[in-house]
Amino acid sequence: MANPLYDRLFGQHAGKDTPFLHLPDGRTITHDAFLRQAARFAHAIHALGLGHGDRLAVQVAKSHHALALYAACVQAGVIFLPLNTAYTPAEISYFLEDSGAGLFVCDGAHVGTLARVAEAAECRLATLNADGSGSFAVAAHDMPEAFDTEPRGEENLAAFLYTSGTTGRSKGAMLTQGNLLSNAEALAGLWRFTADDVLLHALPIFHSHGLFVATNVALLTGGAMILLPKFEVNAVIAALPRATAMMGVPTFYTRLLDDARFTRDLVGHMRLFVSGSAPLLADTHRQFEARTGHRILERYGMTETNMNTSNPYEGERRAGTVGFPLPGVEVKITDPETGAERPRGETGMIEVRGPNVFKGYWNMPEKTREELRENGFFITGDLGLIDGEGYVHIVGRAKDLIISGGYNIYPKEIEMVLDDLPGVLESAVIGVPHPDFGESVVAVLVPEPGAALDGAAIAAAVRERLAGFKQPRRIEIVDALPRNTMGKVQKNALRDRFADAFA
Ligand code: ATP
Ligand code: MG
Repeated sequence: MANPLYDRLFGQHAGKDTPFLHLPDGRTITHDAFLRQAARFAHAIHALGLGHGDRLAVQVAKSHHALALYAACVQAGVIFLPLNTAYTPAEISYFLEDSGAGLFVCDGAHVGTLARVAEAAECRLATLNADGSGSFAVAAHDMPEAFDTEPRGEENLAAFLYTSGTTGRSKGAMLTQGNLLSNAEALAGLWRFTADDVLLHALPIFHSHGLFVATNVALLTGGAMILLPKFEVNAVIAALPRATAMMGVPTFYTRLLDDARFTRDLVGHMRLFVSGSAPLLADTHRQFEARTGHRILERYGMTETNMNTSNPYEGERRAGTVGFPLPGVEVKITDPETGAERPRGETGMIEVRGPNVFKGYWNMPEKTREELRENGFFITGDLGLIDGEGYVHIVGRAKDLIISGGYNIYPKEIEMVLDDLPGVLESAVIGVPHPDFGESVVAVLVPEPGAALDGAAIAAAVRERLAGFKQPRRIEIVDALPRNTMGKVQKNALRDRFADAFA
C-alpha cells in the first residue's frame, strides 16, 4: 500500500548513496543512511505506543536527527508536530494540552522542567539531543533499519503546525499529506530544483519555511542541503561557495549585506536566493542586486497554506511584490466585510484556494468556520492587491489596519514613506487608542547606525508626502523593532508598549 508523502519525499531515495545532508562538522549523511535512521526511529515511535492519527510533539535543537524524526513520523503514519525551540515550559504546556500529543520529544537539557509539563498533559516524554543522544535515541538504537511504511493517503493528516502567534494565540493548522506534497511539487518545478542542487539551510525546522518549503523541495528533487544549526553570518559566508541555492527570511539578507565579505564573487556561482515569511523591503532587493547581481525571489505563504504565490524564476522578479499564484492555487481579493470579489488594483482581503489549503484548525471549529469558507477559500487575514500585470502585493495584515476618525489607514504606505527618509533604517506604524479618533497613528523608527533622527524634521518631511489623516501623531525612536525568530515584526508588542500614547 502506498504512503504518497513518504514514497515521494523519502522512499524514492532508499538504497542511494547520494549526499543528503552536509553537516557543520564536515560529515555528510547520505540519503540511504538518513532513511535507515528514520526507519529505526519509526520502530521506536510504534514501540512507544503511537499509531495512526496520534500526535508526536517535538521541541529539539535543529539537527539531522530532528529531521529523521520528521521522516519517521511520516513513515509510521503519526502526525508530526514541531515546536519553536524558544517556547517556554508554560507555552509548551498549552501545545501539549491543546494537541493531545501522545509523545513529547524534547532536548535532554530541559527535561527537568518539561517532565512535569508532559506529566500534567498526560503525555509520554523522551529526549533527543543535537548530538543524537537521549532516551528516544536509546529506544531506537537496536531497532531494525527497515520499516514497513504505514499505508496512508493524500487526505490523511501529516502534520500539525502551529501558527507563529503574531496576531494572537497560536493555532494548530492541520495539514494533510496532499497539502504538503502538492506544494513541494509546485515549488520544486517553479524554482527549477534538481538533484544537482545544494541548498544552504540556515532556517529553523519548526516552521513551514525551513521544514516544508526548504526540506521538502530538496527531498522531492534529490538534492543535498548544507544543514546549519542556525543563521550565523560567518558560517553562512563560509558555506556559500558550496551552495547553489539559499532560502531565507529578510533579516538573513540584510545581515549578509551588512558584511563586507558578502560580495559578487562569493555568490557568482549561486543559482537562486529565495525570501519569505516577512516582507522584504524593496530597498533590500535593490541593494542585493547592486551588490551581487542576483535578484532575490520573494514568495508568500503561511502555516495554514504553505506557499501561495511566488515571483517567477525566469520572468521579472519584482521588488515589493510576492509574484503570481502558484500553479493550482487561486488567489482573489475580496471586500473584508461582504466577501465580494474586488476588481484588479483594489486593496482587500487576500483569499486563497487550492490543494495547499489546510483542513482547519485543530480544536477550534469556530475559528475554522470564520476563516475557511465552505467553497474552499481560506481568508488569510492579509490585505493586498493584484496589479494590472497579475503580481500580488501584500499591503499588511487586516489586524494591523488602522481606523482613525473613520478613515482606513494602511501602515505599510506610511512605513514606505518613512523608510525612504535619510537616516531611517526601518519603521513600524501602529494604531493605538485615541480618545477622539478611536485610533491614532504612532510611527516607531529605527535610525541607521550613527544617524540621529529629529522628530520635528521627520514630521515636516512626512507632511509633504501624506494626507493629514495618515500622518503619525507621535514619532518614537527605538534601537530595534521587536522581532520573532522568523524576522516578523511584533506589532502587538509595540501596540502594548505605546498603548498610552494618547491617553
Ligand atoms: P498568527 O497567524 O499566529 O498570527 P503568523 O501569521 O505570523 O502568526 P505564519 O503562518 O508563520 O504565522 O506567517 C504567515 C504570515 O507571514 C502571512 O499571513 C503574512 O502576513 C506573512 N508573510 C509571509 N510571507 C510574506 C511575504 N513575502 N511578505 C509579506 N508578508 C509575508
Ligand atoms: Mg497567520
